[in-house]
Amino acid sequence: FLQIREVHQSYGQTEVLKGVSLDVARHEVVCLIGASGSGKSTLLRCINGLETIDSGEILVDGDVVSGAGVDVNRLRRNVGMVFQSYNLFPHMTVLANIVLAPTRVGGVAKAQAEEQALALLERVGMRDKAGAYPDSLSGGQQQRVAIVRALACHPQVLLLDEITAALDPELVGDVLAIVRELAADGLTMLLATHEMGFAREVASQVCFLHQGRILERGSAEQVFGDPQEERTQQFLSRVL
Ligand code: ATP
Ligand code: MG
Repeated sequence: FLQIREVHQSYGQTEVLKGVSLDVARHEVVCLIGASGSGKSTLLRCINGLETIDSGEILVDGDVVSGAGVDVNRLRRNVGMVFQSYNLFPHMTVLANIVLAPTRVGGVAKAQAEEQALALLERVGMRDKAGAYPDSLSGGQQQRVAIVRALACHPQVLLLDEITAALDPELVGDVLAIVRELAADGLTMLLATHEMGFAREVASQVCFLHQGRILERGSAEQVFGDPQEERTQQFLSRVL
């Protein structure tokens, strides 16, 4: 469903992604693991059109979404992304943050968008915060709003980049519970995470990224239980 073919990407002279290929089937949850700087965020940003790739191809549902002439607004409605740092608009209420994209670029009527937003907030236990400003919320609450904001566009794929990395440990569980629920609902997701226990639990496929290449991939059981590559073993022995 999401196909990444031989993607190369550089920042200036530095090549960060050195030929990454990856297929994510519909309803699959794929976890990207790997050391800091291995290229996890860059890969997710390429998929969402936040970085341009040097060569290769990215397809969503059979459509090429990389390269010039791609409708980025349309792409981002199909491919939602949630960042480590929430990125909510501080001058807007929770509700306004969530309905912004559906009403501005999705062509949804405001009343309908608000109704959907409130239903999604209800799901993550935050309906009572609809009128609050992001500053008045905890990190975990802000991240839940950021997830709802991404879901409000009904994406076909959700990209999650270290969404619990900035949270206090006691807030991590709430956010992971939502991701777990989305996985159970069959949402297709590609997530970069340092939460190995969580990756092991939700991932149908785990990819170990090392210096811009996928060095090892397999089921969570294979990669965590019986890693084949020495680099994977070293990485896991440091983080587990
Ligand atoms: P982390 O686990 O720390 O989030 P990561 O796997 O997400 O790491 P990336 O953020 O994708 O790693 O970075 C990969 C490489 O690209 C790093 O060497 C980084 O220094 C470089 N890089 C990332 N963003 C930029 C940028 N905007 N300009 C130049 N170099 C960048
Ligand atoms: Mg990153």
